[in-house]
Amino acid sequence: MDQVVQHKPLTFKDYKSDYKPVWCPGCGDFSVLASVTKALAELQIARENCAVISGIGCSSRIPAYTSVYGFHGIHGRALASATGLKVARPDLTVIATGGDGDGFSIGGNHFLHACRRNVDMTYIVMDNEVYGMTKGQASPTTASDWEGSKLTPHGTGVSPFNPLAVALSAGAGFVARGFAGDPNGSAKLITQAIQHKGFSFVQILSPCVTFRPEQTEWKKIIRKGEISETNALAEAMAFLATDDGFSTGVLYETQRPVYAPKQEEKYSVKDIEASFEL
Ligand code: SF4
Ligand code: MG
Repeated sequence: MDQVVQHKPLTFKDYKSDYKPVWCPGCGDFSVLASVTKALAELQIARENCAVISGIGCSSRIPAYTSVYGFHGIHGRALASATGLKVARPDLTVIATGGDGDGFSIGGNHFLHACRRNVDMTYIVMDNEVYGMTKGQASPTTASDWEGSKLTPHGTGVSPFNPLAVALSAGAGFVARGFAGDPNGSAKLITQAIQHKGFSFVQILSPCVTFRPEQTEWKKIIRKGEISETNALAEAMAFLATDDGFSTGVLYETQRPVYAPKQEEKYSVKDIEASFEL
């Protein structure tokens, strides 16, 4: 008779690597790492069947701090790498991660098309409205009157990018906002995002205590779980028309056809090499 091996359930600690994060003490990204690992533990995803993919930036270091497979790629290209991986290995749970500069500026075009394409993966953006790694320049989500950078001492004068509105307009089927100061709430959002079939986008407000110290006040103004989930696009858009950016929850979830290559579109390395032969 075969012996049945009983495995103990994995805890969130099992999804953390032995590397100590180099983030500044108090950075919101610590909490987002905790939320990601809690979500993976909640879903009991086998570590060998999961990959966290990132670009460049403080938050993009996150793959190194998890025990699942990871790829710390190039600036703005997390979604491109993650898309390639998921299409080639649809059996994997693929999570792309990064910051607002990486994801909405350098990687902005990838963001639009990932929403539109609807590959079954999750994208978590740790939004602190600043480029932290390069010492505090304004990012696409920075308010136009923020005068904290020497490069834009009179503010940027440019309207900030609204990530949730862009995701909805571009066709994302799952759109949510969390807050780093609410790790359990964010873990629930990430769990739901991973379970969603198709592209899921989760913005997590994650304070940069070094270059945006005023963001430590976010904990006083965040309204946890105040967003009401809807599957009506017009309703979700109407919510954003009056949104101040500080409510959290799932905004929108709907089911759309998921992009996956047809069998005949799968190429071997040999086919690809042959296509380059003149
Ligand atoms: Fe976090 Fe800001 Fe420090 Fe980067 S610079 S690790 S975002 S607190
Ligand atoms: Mg940032």
